[in-house]
Amino acid sequence: MSEQLGTQQRPLRVAIIGAGPSGFYAAGALQGKLKESGLHTSIDMFDKLIAPHGLVRYGVAPDHQKIKSVSKVYDLTANDANFRYFGNVEFGKDLTHAEMREMYDAIIYAVGAQSDRNLGVPGENLPNSFSATEFVAWYNSHPEYANFNPDLSVSSAVVVGVGNVAMDVARILAKSVEELKVSDIADHALADLANSNIKDVYILSRRGPAQVKFTPVEIKEFGELAVAEPVILPQEMQIDEVSAKLADADGEMRRNLVTMNAFAARHSEGKERRVHFRFLLSPVEILADADGKISGVKCEINKLVPNDDQSDMKAVGTGQFETIPAGLVMRSVGYKGSPLAGVPYDKRSGTIPNKEGRVTADGGVTVSGEYVVGWAKRGPSGVIGTNKPDSVATVVSLVADVGALTPATNPSRDAVVALLQSRNVRFVTQAEWKKIDAAELAAGKAQSRPRVKLVSPDDMLKVL
Ligand SMILES: Cc1cc2nc3c(=O)[nH]c(=O)nc-3n(C[C@H](O)[C@H](O)[C@H](O)COP(=O)(O)OP(=O)(O)OC[C@H]3O[C@@H](n4cnc5c(N)ncnc54)[C@H](O)[C@@H]3O)c2cc1C
Repeated sequence: MSEQLGTQQRPLRVAIIGAGPSGFYAAGALQGKLKESGLHTSIDMFDKLIAPHGLVRYGVAPDHQKIKSVSKVYDLTANDANFRYFGNVEFGKDLTHAEMREMYDAIIYAVGAQSDRNLGVPGENLPNSFSATEFVAWYNSHPEYANFNPDLSVSSAVVVGVGNVAMDVARILAKSVEELKVSDIADHALADLANSNIKDVYILSRRGPAQVKFTPVEIKEFGELAVAEPVILPQEMQIDEVSAKLADADGEMRRNLVTMNAFAARHSEGKERRVHFRFLLSPVEILADADGKISGVKCEINKLVPNDDQSDMKAVGTGQFETIPAGLVMRSVGYKGSPLAGVPYDKRSGTIPNKEGRVTADGGVTVSGEYVVGWAKRGPSGVIGTNKPDSVATVVSLVADVGALTPATNPSRDAVVALLQSRNVRFVTQAEWKKIDAAELAAGKAQSRPRVKLVSPDDMLKVL
């Protein structure tokens, strides 16, 4: 007879891969089951980076500090006696899928979306054409992007895309060093941005102002910058009938349009930098000069036509073109998951295929004992809070399955520690992370900043 999982004598052993919001919300939901239904769990969370919190630390913009305070909730989860953190441990490299299956009754993948989508146009691989993912990681002190060094000596930058990430990167390019230095932006990025020559940032949208993806707070900020002003061409604010109807029914869209109309009606204040919002333009080629340096982005001018069911408008090329001047091009057209060794992966959506959070293999067959949450489950959409109900839903599936799970063959809490030590993997515990965290906060306090982030793994480990 197989042992009963989830008792005090034999807690359910769960590995969570990824220490971002979705991983922590899953851990918190599992911990809550003790009170709710008496289920005992023992959770080990792994992250390939030393620092936990995923995109809260390495994605959320440094000038949006308040949002990062959500990490306090994650610390409460991490302080539970039956929770252990293993930072600096990469699934698929330091520990294999087969090894994890031996040590854990269930695995929850919370690995987010680690790569990004391309534009698929000629010139995309020219120097100084890159993804917002890379730029964001660079200014947020991600250890793998410390030497990314974009060339900011150019006068004009193009950002392709109109989501909140596009807004973040455009705002960081537009802000003065005084505005940025009070944040926890990476020191290397602050030094380069202080010498930036960029005067014009063009944000390109293939559809119209009623189809943008950013939220009202993000667009509003462009009207409040110290050295930059928003520019919108009044003729590009004309809205078709279908879009107007949609806007009537959508509060966010309405508020976005109010702000953008106000920007279009503004007279220039003569600020030294400008952020241009341009609509109905699809990049078709990134152009270079004779020296191979980016000189502009050739765009096809679009018009909007109703889609088949008349529910929205889609962009259709007109065969006419316009070139936007640029020395730097950043694409921000969506994040995308990367496959994990031994784990099913849907290439098309870039996610781990699943039914209600249960991982499924080819043909939709459920892989017993494996679950997925967050961006790895739904794709790269939604704010931090969106991950909470999503993780709770997956945990509901897991808990319903407990009686049917195949118990791990090597469930001892010591097994993973011994295995990592035998491989000389220097894993970082929650207590050790809190020491690094304290060192960063103290360094920040001395400079009247929220924190000064340590970048390289070596510098982090030195603190210990
Ligand atoms: C640039 C940017 C800015 C954003 N700003 C905001 C904002 O201001 N407000 C807001 O509410 N939302 C914001 N979001 C959205 C929010 O960050 C996401 O909803 C959320 O982080 C998704 O959580 P997740 O846990 O699925 O993924 P992630 O946060 O990406 O966490 C995944 C974790 O898995 C780890 N990992 C990956 N592969 C492995 C592996 N093989 N082994 C071990 N660990 C692994 C990663 O290191 C990472 O720590 C932003 C997103 C981006 C990209």
